[in-house]
Amino acid sequence: FTSLFLGIATIVGTLGLAQTEPGAETFRYESDITRLRSLVIHSLYSHKDVFLRELLSNANDALEKLRLTSLTDRDVMKAGEANVTIEVRLDEGGKTGKLVIRDTGIGMSKDELARNLGTIARSGTSEFLKRAEEGGGADGNLIGQFGLGFYSCFLVSPTVRVSSLPPVTSSNPNPIQHTFVSTSSGDSFEVFPDPRGNTLGRGTEIVLDIQEDEKEWLSTSRLKGLIDKHSTFSTTFPIYMLERK
Ligand code: ADP
Ligand code: MG
Repeated sequence: FTSLFLGIATIVGTLGLAQTEPGAETFRYESDITRLRSLVIHSLYSHKDVFLRELLSNANDALEKLRLTSLTDRDVMKAGEANVTIEVRLDEGGKTGKLVIRDTGIGMSKDELARNLGTIARSGTSEFLKRAEEGGGADGNLIGQFGLGFYSCFLVSPTVRVSSLPPVTSSNPNPIQHTFVSTSSGDSFEVFPDPRGNTLGRGTEIVLDIQEDEKEWLSTSRLKGLIDKHSTFSTTFPIYMLERK
């Protein structure tokens, strides 16, 4: 009887996942992005920890952009505001657990989520692809030169969810929080208004659904080690690791 009940629960769970969120728009990745993503996933399975460096460096960039914007637009951030931080947190959920990286930086609008995460907007990406494909992979050297960026999070998580809320500015007085969801296997992604509303206040939250075989990323000490290694040389804003009680 119990196993029958579990079977039904599983089916309901699967259906729940397949359901699209209200207002969701589906976008197809640019073909170069699909290439880049699979290249990153296949060349780096032995250097998976780079994902955290990339996400922390994006968070740091977002905070730096916020700081620069606030110099010309006073509404963006109050003078002396202390809320310019990066937070790494472990959450319950999914099969094994979730790893959350959150910043209070410049954030992304709906269009920016689709453009920045779904197109080859970055200079150098095409060159990176060309060199990596000629060289038969992306080795440490090439990665050092170009950076891997956002797609490295698919190294450790089959599903990535990015929610983001830009700051209030004179040209954007009523920003709306949106969520981007993508799986590592598909060639498309979805963007929709976050059903939770504007919960972030400002900035970006990246939620990685960590599976059983990647459980090491749910270890506080493992994460702390990586954060220390990274932040000593390249981030300027404070990083907090929130521990589960
Ligand atoms: P790069 O950092 O080299 O530009 P990435 O692949 O790391 O490339 O990120 C792509 C783009 O997505 C960034 O340029 C930025 O516009 C956007 N982005 C990524 N993470 C964040 C974030 N935490 N906050 C705001 N924008 C972000
Ligand atoms: Mg980056």
